[in-house]
Amino acid sequence: MSVSVALRLPSLDSLLRHAACQPLAERYGREALLACLRQLLDDLRDAVVAGQLAPIEISPEALAGRAGERLAFQQRSQVRRVFNLTGTVLHTNLGRALLPEEAIDAVQMAARYPLNLEFDLASGKRGDRDDLIEGLIRELTGAEAVTVVNNNAAAVLLTLNSLGARKEGIISRGELIEIGGAFRIPDIMARAGVRLHEVGTTNRTHARDYEAAISPRSGLIMRVHASNYSIEGFTARVPTAELADLAHRHGLPLLEDLGSGSLLDLTRWGLPAEPTVRQALLDGADIVTFSGDKLLGGPQAGLIVGRKELITKIKKNPLKRALRVDKLTLAALEAVLGLYRDPDRLAERLPSLRLLTRPQADILAQARRLQPVLAQTVGEPWSVSAVDALGMIGSGSQPVARLPSAALCLRPQVPKRLRGRCLLNLEAALRALPIPVLGRIDNDALWLDLRQLDDEPAWLAQLEQLQVPG
Ligand SMILES: *Cc1c(COP(=O)(O)O)cnc(C)c1O
Repeated sequence: MSVSVALRLPSLDSLLRHAACQPLAERYGREALLACLRQLLDDLRDAVVAGQLAPIEISPEALAGRAGERLAFQQRSQVRRVFNLTGTVLHTNLGRALLPEEAIDAVQMAARYPLNLEFDLASGKRGDRDDLIEGLIRELTGAEAVTVVNNNAAAVLLTLNSLGARKEGIISRGELIEIGGAFRIPDIMARAGVRLHEVGTTNRTHARDYEAAISPRSGLIMRVHASNYSIEGFTARVPTAELADLAHRHGLPLLEDLGSGSLLDLTRWGLPAEPTVRQALLDGADIVTFSGDKLLGGPQAGLIVGRKELITKIKKNPLKRALRVDKLTLAALEAVLGLYRDPDRLAERLPSLRLLTRPQADILAQARRLQPVLAQTVGEPWSVSAVDALGMIGSGSQPVARLPSAALCLRPQVPKRLRGRCLLNLEAALRALPIPVLGRIDNDALWLDLRQLDDEPAWLAQLEQLQVPG
């Protein structure tokens, strides 16, 4: 049977020479085309043998058409733009902060040309990449010194290892947190070579708990910002200023991992209060670590700021070299930090802040405008409404705070037992669009939170390609 099937398909050679295949050879290269045609013929033979396909004749033109589709699909980039309509603005799985134009320009420059990454233009001698942004960060945080690494997890690891290896790190039981992606404070401490000395209880830790733990074995006291949960009710925590006093009386450094760590007081934009880096330093923290791509609104990076002698020690750690930032990140970071010099215009210029501060009335008006179009597109059995919704900042900033937002809410008007499947099908169809649209399923409905729908024309333009399963 396979022989008779083979006879009905053109040979690989004749296909390759066929006029219909020439544009493909030009576009994708002969090798890629050859591999694709070979695979295509094999697949067809297999399908016929398996009885999934009748052994009919297939024209070279049709085969070239299929090969073209396959090649286009294979060539499609794996890194894809998406619409983040999940309601979570700084979504870790979707790349967190979006860069401002100034940073995008800086990245392009750094990608295209040689630059003074580790070269001091004034002296003509070798420089240090941290120097490029040290001045700006000191100005914006009041820190004595600065160093930058790949992300905040790296910042915490490097700081712990540099200041506390082979000694004890004292930390409250209420701060032994896990952030997504297996970042757990006890594990990071262990990897950093610091012995964990936990004190207090989950909900209450007092100054006397820290005090009682201090011994000649102690290396540092650590405080971690509760980024992704909150402890409420009967609670007690020692204010940073008091903890810093205590640490310094015993000659220990206080390390504060702020997580998001904002450079400015966000309440001026009506956002929930988040501790600022400057305040943590003013309160007496010796080293503060925070992320570049959370509330700061920049590229992925971990910023370590604080006392000069400690930063010097951190920079001498051989691990620093393994964790350092690349030139594209540094270029973007400098541009983003530059925008902070003019706080009055920051909310217009920094995309993450612009999105976080977008007025709810605006978002609701957009939802009302788009509701009829979406209702028309999805058709039966969906009911589509423009409704108030609650979003989140994300990335562990203010886990309990909700951002008043608005969404398109799609509910399938089908018996309850069919709803789950219906919703998953719609979700998959939205993901299959050229620019995948990501929403969230909650309470028997699919929600598309529009806070981050900036590019409405692109969203609308692809809507007609949505294939909602019946
Ligand atoms: C997010 C976070 C981290 C990890 O930061 P990355 O930039 O994701 O590496 C560490 N500590 C806290 C408190 C955080 O919120």
